[in-house]
Amino acid sequence: MLESLDAHASGTGASPTDVLVLGAGVSGLAAAARLTQAGCTVRVLEARDRIGGRVLTLRGEGWPVPVELGAEFVQGRVSVLFKLAEQGGLPVVELNGSRVQSHAGQLARFDGRFPGLEEILSQLPELGAEEDQSFAQFLATCCADESLADARDLARTWVETYDAADPDRLSVRSLLRERRAEREIAADRAFRLVTGYDAVPKALHQGIAAERGRVELETIATEVRWSPGAVSVEASDSRGAVRGSFTARRLVVALPLGVLQAPPTEPFAIRFTPPLAQKDAALRGLEMGHVVKLVFAFKERFWERLFPDEVGFLIASDEPLQGWWTGYPVYAPVLVGWAGGPAADAFAGLATEQRLDRALDSLGRTLRVGRAEIDREIVTCSTHDWAADPFARGAYSYVRVGGIEAQAALASPVENTLFFAGEATELDGLQATVHGALAAGQRAADEVLQGLKAESVR
Ligand SMILES: Cc1cc2nc3c(=O)[nH]c(=O)nc-3n(C[C@H](O)[C@H](O)[C@H](O)COP(=O)(O)OP(=O)(O)OC[C@H]3O[C@@H](n4cnc5c(N)ncnc54)[C@H](O)[C@@H]3O)c2cc1C
Repeated sequence: MLESLDAHASGTGASPTDVLVLGAGVSGLAAAARLTQAGCTVRVLEARDRIGGRVLTLRGEGWPVPVELGAEFVQGRVSVLFKLAEQGGLPVVELNGSRVQSHAGQLARFDGRFPGLEEILSQLPELGAEEDQSFAQFLATCCADESLADARDLARTWVETYDAADPDRLSVRSLLRERRAEREIAADRAFRLVTGYDAVPKALHQGIAAERGRVELETIATEVRWSPGAVSVEASDSRGAVRGSFTARRLVVALPLGVLQAPPTEPFAIRFTPPLAQKDAALRGLEMGHVVKLVFAFKERFWERLFPDEVGFLIASDEPLQGWWTGYPVYAPVLVGWAGGPAADAFAGLATEQRLDRALDSLGRTLRVGRAEIDREIVTCSTHDWAADPFARGAYSYVRVGGIEAQAALASPVENTLFFAGEATELDGLQATVHGALAAGQRAADEVLQGLKAESVR
């Protein structure tokens, strides 16, 4: 295999590049690494001035420890990420802090699982091949017992925050598939790479064989012209200046779902010529969920005055920010606030200052601490508006009611020329994660390699 692809890579074709990859997030980098290791020449075109996409680590400048504006947790025992951490000598910690719930003016500590949540979710129905329903419909019909009202609220908040999904649109069938996949990796356990999640894209980048592959930063793909066996990508920089025309025999599209869904009138929308009409239904079956995530560094862990033990998570279902977490088990004066789904949508259009302000008001109410006291403690804060970011257009994907086949349809190669990666093309229920993006990138690379091999033996 390697030999035949080596022959391709140095072959006499008109194109000097075997494969172009659009996007240097985890998925695109994973695809590029696998392709170069198999002997292909690869160029990765990345719109931003950095790799990593929705993995965005902040450090220094007032931050006592690295903090994450994008992906933060390793959701479960994900062997590929654990291995990567081990190879890089990167410390991984499990999140084992206690949990506090703020509800109807009361703060209560609870240990272990969220009360009643599992009871509700375990009743998700097995639906027939043609059937589906929204999570909101499921909640309305199941668990009608009044004693479960709080648990139903919690389940709704959980799905909104965790899946960043609107319960009225989220597919129950996809949720069931996600839960099965998560069970296999014990995703109820969460871990953190304490020296920064950006170690993952960095390690993947290092895996791109330097003599065969290269990442072009600040290179925004604007148009893909393609015919079977040939692609040409026009690219510009953020000021609109031409970055060039890149050609290859194959293309891996590792762009976020939101970018692929953007109408042509949107800034930095990408155009395919001829258009990819066969992807329209898939793009309609999936949706980009929204998240608002804000990170704060304080002078000290002032919340310990309220909860002298090791608080990990604070749940506040009735607040604009439904969840907060500390760095525990790392002792750092850092808090992260989170809103997902409709709660995140409620922040749309607010300027950064307004978001931070609303978040701190919410934190004060959640902790029963005066706003002035919180303000005195702040060292620095930050956020990133993923919904307004033209190179993300949302936080991560979910499946709409009736869209259970959409990921497979989006992932499906076109004419052995266009291949599709990115978290939204993960097929086994692990979309919306770093490991899902990584797996999707490797799957797309394997499809390219199979296609090249099939062509070379013809
Ligand atoms: C706030 C937040 C929290 C999250 N938390 C977690 C978590 O705790 N655990 C977890 O596992 N996952 C989490 N995720 C999800 C995870 O970050 C993503 O699933 C994963 O990083 C997606 O990788 P990707 O390569 O598919 O996409 P991306 O990382 O988005 O990469 C796509 C790349 O394409 C580039 N691009 C876009 N348009 C163009 C263009 N026209 N031309 C060239 N390049 C372009 C982008 O700049 C980007 O670098 C979180 C995401 C967010 C936003």
